[in-house]
Amino acid sequence: MKQNRRNFLKLAGAAGMSLAGPDVLLSDARSQDTAPVINKVAVDHAVATLEDGSKLATPFWRIESGKDGPSLLLLAAQHGNEVQGVEVARRLMEICARHLKAGSVWLVPMANLRAIRTRRHSADLGPEQPGRFSKGHNLQEAWPGDPQGNDTQRVAHALDRAVVCHCTHAVDLHCWNHFWAAETLAVTGHEPSGPLGEVTTTRFVSYRAWSPPAGRITSFSQLLYQRGAGAIAMELSGQFQMQERQVRIGVTSLVNIAKRLGMMPGEPTPIDGRRVERTAKNSHTVQAPCAGIFMPAQQEDQSAALIPDDPVEKGQLLGHIIPERDLATVPVRAPVSGHLWQLGACHGVLCDASLPAQHPYMEEGETLAMIVERS
Ligand SMILES: [Zn+2]
Repeated sequence: MKQNRRNFLKLAGAAGMSLAGPDVLLSDARSQDTAPVINKVAVDHAVATLEDGSKLATPFWRIESGKDGPSLLLLAAQHGNEVQGVEVARRLMEICARHLKAGSVWLVPMANLRAIRTRRHSADLGPEQPGRFSKGHNLQEAWPGDPQGNDTQRVAHALDRAVVCHCTHAVDLHCWNHFWAAETLAVTGHEPSGPLGEVTTTRFVSYRAWSPPAGRITSFSQLLYQRGAGAIAMELSGQFQMQERQVRIGVTSLVNIAKRLGMMPGEPTPIDGRRVERTAKNSHTVQAPCAGIFMPAQQEDQSAALIPDDPVEKGQLLGHIIPERDLATVPVRAPVSGHLWQLGACHGVLCDASLPAQHPYMEEGETLAMIVERS
């Protein structure tokens, strides 16, 4: 019971349950938010002319409060296999229709339609090819785009002209593999971006120091920084899938950001428990003690399987290996207390393209978990 209560509180905290401000728990497809709709939601398109002369219209929502304020952008699915932000955008559209009080919100749920249609990271990739194999079609590196360039650059250009160039703050929402927990990738030393990273609801946050872009701009965040806008990236957990827990992290993060920027009423709702800054120093890897098949453990109260994000105590069972040499079960225990950042392994950093990369067979010495100590 204690554990269930804790989980409920964690969920409630992550979902931003509060008496004041939008109740995002109710904002699924059966929205029961009874607050009146006060803002018009426009659906518009960023239209690119592709190399073959055809048009590609990328849809987006724009919600205007009619009052001065920041213009906040959510850019989701720059990579076609990272789609959980699509539902995040849809729920935010409903919340903004009722609760946006200042400024405007721009929501691009499917930034890279060509990659989504091929169900891959980038549109030019074939089977088993991870994102890094793309030759010039990684949308995240195609900014600010080029109306005479390749089709990905043309899409970036159309999105920039129709949406991005109007925005003062942006959240670039991605998903990494499901063996890793959701994390906010924030910057330090860049004043407009600072508030965004402070109030997201991922358990983990990591920081890199901001430095002025050198040379030609290609990345989305650099483009925003160059214009004096604020930007952060977020990675939800899990590609090729839609998970309620992850969608809620995205929605509550964006609602908190809107509150922090004075665009919605109320104060940001902090996560339940402690935020964990992940650094090389406080991260402890757990290596497979032998070769075999890894089976993750249940949580201590047996209520559910352990997953990345969960808290663990020193000595707690993380799982076991069924070894290929003698079939004698080998338990794997947490060497420190903290939060699980990784559980299981993505072999060869190929998870965004390959099922064998997600296989539970571990080689001896392979990293099968990472625990980040609470400071
Ligand atoms: Zn991505």
